[in-house]
Amino acid sequence: MQMISLLGATGSIGVSTLDVIARHPDKYAIYALTAYTQVDKLAEQCQQFNPKFAVVGDAVSAERLQVKLRACGCDTEALYGLEALCQVASDAAVDTVMAAIVGAAGLVPTLAAVKAGKKILLANKEALVMAGGLFMQAVADSGSVLLPIDSEHNAIFQCLPSDYGRSADNGVKKLLLSASGGPFRGWTLEQMQRVTPDQACAHPNWSMGRKISVDSATLMNKGLELIEACWLFAVPERSIDVIVHPQSIIHSLVQYSDGSVLAQLGNPDMRTPIAHALAWPQRIDSGVANLDLFNIARLDFEQPDMQAFPSLAIARAAAQAGANAAAIMNAANEVAVQAFLDQRIGFTQIAEIVEQTLNNQTVCEPESLEAVQESDSEARLYSSTLIKSLEK
Ligand code: NAD
Ligand code: MG
Repeated sequence: MQMISLLGATGSIGVSTLDVIARHPDKYAIYALTAYTQVDKLAEQCQQFNPKFAVVGDAVSAERLQVKLRACGCDTEALYGLEALCQVASDAAVDTVMAAIVGAAGLVPTLAAVKAGKKILLANKEALVMAGGLFMQAVADSGSVLLPIDSEHNAIFQCLPSDYGRSADNGVKKLLLSASGGPFRGWTLEQMQRVTPDQACAHPNWSMGRKISVDSATLMNKGLELIEACWLFAVPERSIDVIVHPQSIIHSLVQYSDGSVLAQLGNPDMRTPIAHALAWPQRIDSGVANLDLFNIARLDFEQPDMQAFPSLAIARAAAQAGANAAAIMNAANEVAVQAFLDQRIGFTQIAEIVEQTLNNQTVCEPESLEAVQESDSEARLYSSTLIKSLEK
């Protein structure tokens, strides 16, 4: 029996993870479920999965949750705050941690799980983007098993040789990162100026949380994923090409020196990478329908439009710059995406704010977690001020 802590249980990845787990009660049990403010949804999940702990963002929510849990006869204990998140992520009783909190908020609890040597199922790409060097060092030090949930990275992981990382001569030439192109594929910058949050969140192939949906629309999601891939697979950014593939059936590919290209295909449903990582190196049923290639009929490929989607070039530059550049970029992006969702700035201003923040902040090597967090805070402050000045 694998004992699991699921961080971000009420989100899109969290719900898909519970769907897979519910299909295999003989293999997986839940130690803790966490959420931020969605007390009602978390209480329902606790009733179904009966975890030892449930963690929320603050004391008031925890109190409300505890009352609800008692009322339905559920003996889950409600906790709150960052310390509790770290505790359920690192407890000796836990084997596996699904890191599915969105954004920088996931970094500290995910690192706590890494340091405790847990098997990590990583959906929270922002944690790796912010603190890749420290994160991968912590993985190496603790011997933690790190498995990618992001569909592209999970696909690459499946296409790499099993001794990748242990053998220098593996014949891997390039990683080809799939991108759907998002809801505005084929649009010009001018056309994107007045799009609404709901338009940006209406992804053609994937149903996801609002932050990652906006990132997919700007292509910053692909930029974050480029940096995520550099850390996960220890390759420089120039070894990764981005391929726009609108059907989202090929989730990514690995090109080898002999001309072979291996790809992983599947329906666009996150339960496949989740089930893959949960059961790895075995395979389990995920609930995903069989891929019907006759129905799909064709697969298309395009170059990304670098003019219309400047975020991709910004992310490549941040990957090249290294040090704390990606942490600055990530923080400014989180602030700008939230401002766009709150209808305080326009869609195309997201990339402008990220770029200006990067140009203004000092790039230096972060030697500690505190240094990463300082870069994150300074970039948030700068980009927030920038947004206020734009609103006037
Ligand atoms: P979501 O917004 O649907 O869910 C986010 C979860 O994090 C919720 O449970 C929420 O309660 C929790 N949370 C939010 N802020 C928090 C905070 N400050 N402290 C503690 N918990 C907090 O997001 P999602 O779409 O499930 O994405 C989660 C992560 O997975 C993101 O990093 C995203 O980039 C990544 N990811 C998602 C998908 C997808 O299909 N949704 C695919 C690949 C990667
Ligand atoms: Mg992805």
